[in-house]
Amino acid sequence: MILIDGKKTSAEVKAEIKKDVKAFVDQGGKVPHLAAILVGKDGASETYVASKVRSCNEVGFNSTLERMPSETTEEDLLLKINEFNNNEDIDGFIVQLPLPKHIDEQKVTTAILPQKDVDGFHPVNVGRMALGQPAYISATPYGIVQLLEKYNIDTMGKHCVVIGRSNIVGSPMSILMAKNSKHGNCTVTLTHSKTQNLQEYTKVADIVIVALGKPAFLTGDMIKEGATVIDVGITRVPDDSKKSGFRIQGDADFDSCAEKASFITPVPGGVGLMTVASLMKNTLAAAKKEIFS
Ligand code: NAP
Repeated sequence: MILIDGKKTSAEVKAEIKKDVKAFVDQGGKVPHLAAILVGKDGASETYVASKVRSCNEVGFNSTLERMPSETTEEDLLLKINEFNNNEDIDGFIVQLPLPKHIDEQKVTTAILPQKDVDGFHPVNVGRMALGQPAYISATPYGIVQLLEKYNIDTMGKHCVVIGRSNIVGSPMSILMAKNSKHGNCTVTLTHSKTQNLQEYTKVADIVIVALGKPAFLTGDMIKEGATVIDVGITRVPDDSKKSGFRIQGDADFDSCAEKASFITPVPGGVGLMTVASLMKNTLAAAKKEIFS
């Protein structure tokens, strides 16, 4: 079994970005600037945003963190988005999800200019990605593709089962894995909560990408010998042995899956770190105007 090391790979990706930023700025380009809007005080969101700001510092980007209270109205958030859309110094920005219930996430996602939508959630970017046109690819699927690439995992003609069909992970992932591209060309089965007899699919899959938000859901008896397991799940589960009172658990039961898998991503230390590195990649592309010229 080979452990897919997201920590090492994301550090390599960030080192490449840092080098690129320096070369770009040395040639007269602007310092890339990523902004994030954080509404409310969700603990997990605070952690994600802090890690994004830290990564900006590491690769030599400027960053802005705009905190808004949880009672922020949808209208005020849309005004802030409009301000960032029109701020020429900001190359790309994200609105950290989830948002408080009274705010329509779809309205918010669509309000961000596609040119600045480095999370790749805007319908224009999703549509372009689906058509194989230049697009910001949403950071988690983009990070997974890079992991497959770095570990030379053969995808051509393989059967890939994706568990979960969310707009930000499962659905775009299924499209990318089916694309006629170097790290696509899989036969893809996209599964969800209404899928009957899920095990019938996972047991014959060469690659299982598990993204449903249910800790330790995928167990060793559900996969075939030699499968590749990509675990996207991040759930805080209570753990008295930790100072924080919780630990991070993936959607795969690591020990039983690792016994049979040929490749597996750990949680933490796998996909999550690549998500942040991919956001940095998208932001550099935004500063260079590589996607939308
Ligand atoms: P989500 O929006 O809650 O979607 C969950 C998906 O799982 C839905 O499509 C749902 O089906 C499906 N599902 C639920 N129960 C199922 C079951 N028993 N069998 C098969 N499918 C089932 O979740 P998400 O935003 O994609 O996130 C999934 C997990 O990934 C979470 O733990 C999240 O924290 C994590 N995540 C990690 C990263 C990262 O960087 N590593 C990034 C984003 C998310 P229906 O559509 O039928 O409801």
